[in-house]
Amino acid sequence: MKKYDDIVVGSGISGMTLALLLGMNGHSVLLLEKNRNIGGCMTRFYKQGIPFDTGFHFTGGFYKNGILNDMLTVLGISDQIQPVFITREEGNRLIFEQENGVYDFPFGFKEIIAKMKSYFPGEQNGIDRYFEMLLDVCNKTVAMDLRKLSLSQDSIDEDYISLDQVLNKLIQNSTLKGLLSKYSMCYGVKPSETSFANHSRVSFGLYESVARVKDGGDAFIRAFKKRFSEYDIDIRCQSHIIECSDITNNIVGRFVLNTGEEVFADRCTFTIHPKAVLDVLPKKHLSKAFIDRVSAFEPTHGFFAVFGVLENSRQSSDDYDPTILSLLPTTDINKLMDPCYTGDSALVILKNMDAVNGKDCLVLTALELSFPEHVRQWHDSKSGARPEGYLDYKEERTEGIKRRILNVYPEYRDSLKIVDSASVLTFRDYLNAPFGSAYGIKQKIGQFNLFGKLPLRNLYAAGQSAVLPGIVGAMLSSFIIGRVIAGRESYLDFIKKRLDS
Ligand SMILES: Cc1cc2nc3c(=O)[nH]c(=O)nc-3n(C[C@H](O)[C@H](O)[C@H](O)COP(=O)(O)OP(=O)(O)OC[C@H]3O[C@@H](n4cnc5c(N)ncnc54)[C@H](O)[C@@H]3O)c2cc1C
Repeated sequence: MKKYDDIVVGSGISGMTLALLLGMNGHSVLLLEKNRNIGGCMTRFYKQGIPFDTGFHFTGGFYKNGILNDMLTVLGISDQIQPVFITREEGNRLIFEQENGVYDFPFGFKEIIAKMKSYFPGEQNGIDRYFEMLLDVCNKTVAMDLRKLSLSQDSIDEDYISLDQVLNKLIQNSTLKGLLSKYSMCYGVKPSETSFANHSRVSFGLYESVARVKDGGDAFIRAFKKRFSEYDIDIRCQSHIIECSDITNNIVGRFVLNTGEEVFADRCTFTIHPKAVLDVLPKKHLSKAFIDRVSAFEPTHGFFAVFGVLENSRQSSDDYDPTILSLLPTTDINKLMDPCYTGDSALVILKNMDAVNGKDCLVLTALELSFPEHVRQWHDSKSGARPEGYLDYKEERTEGIKRRILNVYPEYRDSLKIVDSASVLTFRDYLNAPFGSAYGIKQKIGQFNLFGKLPLRNLYAAGQSAVLPGIVGAMLSSFIIGRVIAGRESYLDFIKKRLDS
């Protein structure tokens, strides 16, 4: 039986990043994944030869010296990840359906500020101040510079004010408030519940640039797998820990897997949902306060997804640029992100060109905000064996989304073919994601997330629910934990060398 330095639980982007970082720092690593294959949300699925993205459609952070570029450089995979930028400002468009207002988001701070001012000339000062504050938060966030990585980020004032409070102070116009809150849907917390600091940290990269990646999440998984083979990293799929045993001085000595195998390791880091971590930890070693804290975390919203393709559509050169079109029935984002809201949900329509059986093809994915409450009655059902009522729900919701797509793209009436759909229950079961939430737990203002050392001293937590969600936030959590595990000074040296080489 092999003894490892580290076990990493969960092989999404967080787990893959941490496993590789530790391997590159000379650790022997066992990467455990519950599913048949590694990748988590990065995994693409194929239907009729068409590649569809599950949980990775676009990202910010690809600009020069951007955090994502830097992380990929350190990991030695930047040459295998090819960003495909949205270049046209109408490529990132938002429509407020009730007022029929159409707003484009150009990229770059100068450009977005000028555009917002052209839409709302009476709000010039507020717009300037919002972006100044946002940039200030990011300058003060040490983790956004890999060379300054540390586990603890000193709190800043903006960690304790909500996005809503800032917008209400600076901006009069409710449409503008809605526009500046739009990226809340990229981290899953209402403007009234999120800190302005977290909003700024996620939005910063998206204001700078937005890109898809050629071959989507597959490109990441391929690149990681190649790198894993160069280090002492073993991967075990369809495996998870069922018991932490041989606990002395609050240190776990032995990890029992569902396969019956027993593994020894110095440390184990969980990159999975905090509630799933709680399920594995031995309760008698946990305080009530710890259990209550983790149990109280709330899931973010999820998505109802419709996957389609445009058959035989006449393609123009514009089609080669990816596009994001967001349809929001109202400017009140708090309302849209409330599970009790019963009107049309926010819908994000993503289009991109991809290779299907060797030919370029326009692939369309539509993500409509959804909540576990929408499917509560089928909560106990499993994928592949859902009751008829659920299938009716899926069909009805799919038809409604199709109608909304054709409303904004009437030219696709004859070419749009819906290939598949997924509810939050589908995401829950395929991704082993409690509640089917898109971004793990809501990281609410003033909340103390599950991150770093756990009550058992050789167990750690990282992942999308630890620092910030999305692939950048998830990777960042692993970079920060990597420093603690690999040793502070040598790790920073390692990062500097990799960035400078
Ligand atoms: C529909 C959807 C669209 C999204 N779109 C975007 C986007 O466009 N851009 C973006 O940046 N982010 C997006 N996100 C969010 C992004 O995908 C996540 O924030 C990020 O990928 C999370 O990475 P992770 O490694 O922390 O978790 P995950 O990718 O969820 O990985 C966790 C892994 O752990 C495994 N696992 C769970 N429990 C266990 C266990 N007990 N033992 C072993 N393995 C276990 C799971 O099977 C999974 O493989 C989206 C998410 C969804 C759902």
